Amino acid sequence: MDEIRILDKTFRKLISEEEIKLRIKELAGQINTDLAGRDVIFIGVLNGSFIFAADIFRQIDFPARISFVKLASYAGTDSSGTLNELIGWNEDVSGRTIIVIEDIVDTGTTIKQIVNDLLLRKASEVRIATLFFKPSSCVESIEIDYKGFEIPDDFVIGYGLDYNGYGRNLPSVYALIS
Ligand code: IMP
Repeated sequence: MDEIRILDKTFRKLISEEEIKLRIKELAGQINTDLAGRDVIFIGVLNGSFIFAADIFRQIDFPARISFVKLASYAGTDSSGTLNELIGWNEDVSGRTIIVIEDIVDTGTTIKQIVNDLLLRKASEVRIATLFFKPSSCVESIEIDYKGFEIPDDFVIGYGLDYNGYGRNLPSVYALIS
């Protein structure tokens, strides 16, 4: 199934389930080597990261915790329009090593906000793990510690990523063609 149709759009397979599986194994291996013996809290960013978070976390071989946050958008009263607020914090992150798990870093705005929020909450170290990264659309200067794939500036779905809520259950990743 190399081409699929979701709602009004057509997508073509970009990265297969097997490639994703292999890459996640490599990323987990790096984390296991880098952070063995540390008390790490993984923080997944909902909704998109839920599959990546579940797959990578099961391959972490040291005792670790995981929690999830969500960015809630609401209409602001100032001229900037929409504001984002992080909700769902239920971990005390102060003094902890955190790995933020993202599905995709596009402009970098979301991950930057999350990292800043964690530093304000006095996390001692914040690392970033993202499955996908679009270097040509990223406008923030951020260092990504664990990066699955660099992809072109195409809209992608599958493996947790959605188009209008659909496509998250696709095991491979597909890019928009029309
Ligand atoms: P950023 O703040 O621009 O880096 O965007 C981050 C969020 O936008 C991701 O967590 C996704 O929810 C969403 N997003 C960005 N690019 C895509 C895409 O190609 N497909 C689906 N969602 C995307």
